[in-house]
Amino acid sequence: MRSLSIFGATGSIGEQTVDLLLRAGGAETHKIVALTGGRNIARLAEMARTLRAEIAVCADASGLAELRDRLAGSGVEAAAGTTAIVEAAERPADWVMSAIVGAAGLEPGFRALRHGATLALANKESLVTAGPLLMAEAARHGARILPVDSEHSAIFQALVGEDIAAVERIILTASGGALRDWPLERLAKATVTEALAHPNWAMGQRITIDSASMFNKALEVIETREFFGVAPDQIEVIIHPESLIHSMVAYRDGAIMAHMGAPDMRHSIGYALNWPDRSHLPVARLDLAQVATLTFRAPDLARYPALRLARQVMARRGLAGAAFNAAKEVALDHFLAGGIGFMDMSGVVEATLEALDADLGHENDAMTLEDVQLVDHLARQRAGKIARRQAGEQ
Ligand code: NAD
Ligand code: MG
Repeated sequence: MRSLSIFGATGSIGEQTVDLLLRAGGAETHKIVALTGGRNIARLAEMARTLRAEIAVCADASGLAELRDRLAGSGVEAAAGTTAIVEAAERPADWVMSAIVGAAGLEPGFRALRHGATLALANKESLVTAGPLLMAEAARHGARILPVDSEHSAIFQALVGEDIAAVERIILTASGGALRDWPLERLAKATVTEALAHPNWAMGQRITIDSASMFNKALEVIETREFFGVAPDQIEVIIHPESLIHSMVAYRDGAIMAHMGAPDMRHSIGYALNWPDRSHLPVARLDLAQVATLTFRAPDLARYPALRLARQVMARRGLAGAAFNAAKEVALDHFLAGGIGFMDMSGVVEATLEALDADLGHENDAMTLEDVQLVDHLARQRAGKIARRQAGEQ
């Protein structure tokens, strides 16, 4: 029986992973090791009972008593807190879903690689903050990382049987998010609710706002560079409002391989779950005659400063990704709390990168997980200060 763990099981990706697992027989056909969640303890306990998990862990340490209560008599162990999540990742499992949101997802994925697990990686922040480390850790332990981000799953699939040396360009598609058709001058006033109205994908709150600002695409450009090892200038972004082409690989003979399908994350979660097989998935089938047209347009960098910042981060590499991601998370918190405007987020990130310049090292410096965590911490402090100052001025 294949053993599995899901980190971030109660989130958007986690729930869809559980959905596919249940359809594939759940606890009858899989041994579920660890399930983790944040504050939704009722849902975590319910999943752990249904899937007969070995252990359920909630991130919120104050939730332990409730989790124990809800799991009483089920035989599922209960634990709580960040350390307990990392310890749960040390329990061997054949396949591990990394679907915690944010930098908190890094360490559990890292630990899972140490016992050779196949890591299904939804947590793009892991590659952005610590790409070289993560890839080296996987190689050292003979572990495999399978991308779950839809763009990267699409690229991975378009590369099957091909030589990466024959790749000319990787073309990431972007929906453009909720505000893509707004005039530039209105963007500064966009509210959280408006930025959350994603036209195509139903996702967690944070990534939905990041889609509207293209911080999500900026993270994905860096993720592409780290995962596939291509040069930054080989990576392009194109706005494709229909979100039916999930990304493309352009080869040196002029051929472009595109991955198409309905915008449903269960495509890429299911591909990673069934890999190297392709099994039936409960996703909508495309009727191309109904679709009729696909449209594309180049992204306007004035609207999306995040894309420009991603280029800076890639040129710098080292610990710049860790600072970029942490500053972005803090800027997003301040936008969500109403302190700063939609277009101020990129300003906070840019100012943080400038302020920390001397601490970010260089492309070829050896980095450790501790370095990444330290820069993450410094960038959060600095970005917080900058965002509070900005909020005070408004
Ligand atoms: P989400 O907010 O819906 O769920 C996040 C999960 O992580 C939840 O289980 C939550 O309880 C848990 N969590 C949050 N903070 C935590 C912390 N500090 N410590 C431990 N656990 C914590 O997020 P999501 O949309 O499912 O995204 C998960 C990851 O997948 C992100 O890295 C995101 O960028 C990536 N991703 C998501 C989608 C999507 O469609 N939702 C698509 C591509 C990539
Ligand atoms: Mg994506």
